[in-house]
Amino acid sequence: MRLLLIAAPGGGKGTQGERLAVHYDIQHISSGDLLRAEVEADTTVGREIAAYQQSGDLVPDQIVIDALIPVVVAAAARGGYILDGFPRTIQQATAAAEIGVRLDVVLDAAVYLHVPEPVLVQRLLARARPDDTIDVIRHRLQVFAETTGPLLAYYQNRGILLEVDADKPPDSITVEIEARLPDTSNRS
Ligand code: ADP
Repeated sequence: MRLLLIAAPGGGKGTQGERLAVHYDIQHISSGDLLRAEVEADTTVGREIAAYQQSGDLVPDQIVIDALIPVVVAAAARGGYILDGFPRTIQQATAAAEIGVRLDVVLDAAVYLHVPEPVLVQRLLARARPDDTIDVIRHRLQVFAETTGPLLAYYQNRGILLEVDADKPPDSITVEIEARLPDTSNRS
């Protein structure tokens, strides 16, 4: 199974990503976690990433693509993945699609977790990660609408968008996603 999760900040990508990874026995790949690990490692690129994350801006596509593609390729060889937070721009989606062609694998679904904006703001304020201040939250929501929003049409046009109401308890969201995903059990 090869999936990707699209959601605004606070939409629950991390929670659903972990659950779906267990259910389908696939690797959960969180771009935010991978980029934060670079920051922790305090590398040159890590310091650059930190500045973007703190201001709520997206990290430049090439940095993200270089960090993510090797991980995706390795996971594909092990039977699948769930991408959480990547791709987040059309350019990243194009790079991901090129890798799919090269590896001869297709994406089974792009799952969009839809949550109303006031609920997102409440969730993020409650979470209180260092980039969860109200001004940065507002900026990240705007970046999501402008830059990641177009991915919904991109995957809709490819016939693999699955939109889910994610303003509900996590368990019922997981159940709904699993029920609506295609059955790939008879496929390698
Ligand atoms: P959230 O979904 O709550 O914003 P993430 O952990 O997914 O949390 O992302 C945190 C930050 O990491 C983003 O604000 C952005 O700076 C950076 N980031 C994560 N994924 C990407 C990506 N695919 N492209 C660019 N920047 C990214």
